[in-house]
Amino acid sequence: MDPRLDGIGLTSARTRDRLVERLRAQGIHDETVLARIRDVPRHIFIDEALASRAYEDTALPIGYGQTISQPYIVARMTEAMLERRSPRTVLEVGTGCGYQTAVLAGIVPRLFTIERIAPLLARAKENLRALGVDNVRFRHGDGYEGWRANGPYDGILVAAAPPEVPAELLSQLAPGGRLVMPVGPEGRQVLVRYTRRETGCVREELGPVSFVPLLAGVVGPAGR
Ligand code: SAH
Repeated sequence: MDPRLDGIGLTSARTRDRLVERLRAQGIHDETVLARIRDVPRHIFIDEALASRAYEDTALPIGYGQTISQPYIVARMTEAMLERRSPRTVLEVGTGCGYQTAVLAGIVPRLFTIERIAPLLARAKENLRALGVDNVRFRHGDGYEGWRANGPYDGILVAAAPPEVPAELLSQLAPGGRLVMPVGPEGRQVLVRYTRRETGCVREELGPVSFVPLLAGVVGPAGR
């Protein structure tokens, strides 16, 4: 096994336990989600220079102007998708370094993930391989389009904010399926949850958030 996976000192299992207790104190109550956050070594997803901050509940830079999501947000979104459901097929948009992907992959049977920046996607693949995760399929592409061929999805999670919810993503939801994502311009984003019902989609607002923007088109493979 990769020796980095264990962690020592500020990247140890005890440090992760403290993170989980903080998430609990902030209202995260889904035990499946909390257990998975405790299991995933977040420090392997970030630069070694920042590894000692891996279990602070904060977003950190991962290059290309992007960030690894804050654990609280990963937990909150995952919990919102899971509530009273057992999603089997899930789409994630905005793989980044793969942290949220790793959390989800331990909870849902089939996961599809899309990232527009090729070098980040390559890094995410490596990270997930190191963790032995093998139920994820990756796509270098534009998340605005979703991934229709593998849908419809019981859950769709988006880790970047568009001005408005893309109709294409809503159309890839299975009956009863949920789309959880940030929407709105910088400084005024809200986390929303759409649930597909026979009569259309129900929209709920889950509170203010701060994400990088969802951008159209792809960047890569050389980081152009
Ligand atoms: N889920 C990641 C967070 C990544 S930040 C984690 O756990 O760390 C958001 C990511 O969304 C960035 O990597 C960014 O490149 C990506 N992104 C932005 N717009 C996108 C789009 N249209 N399609 C796919 N990915 C996109």
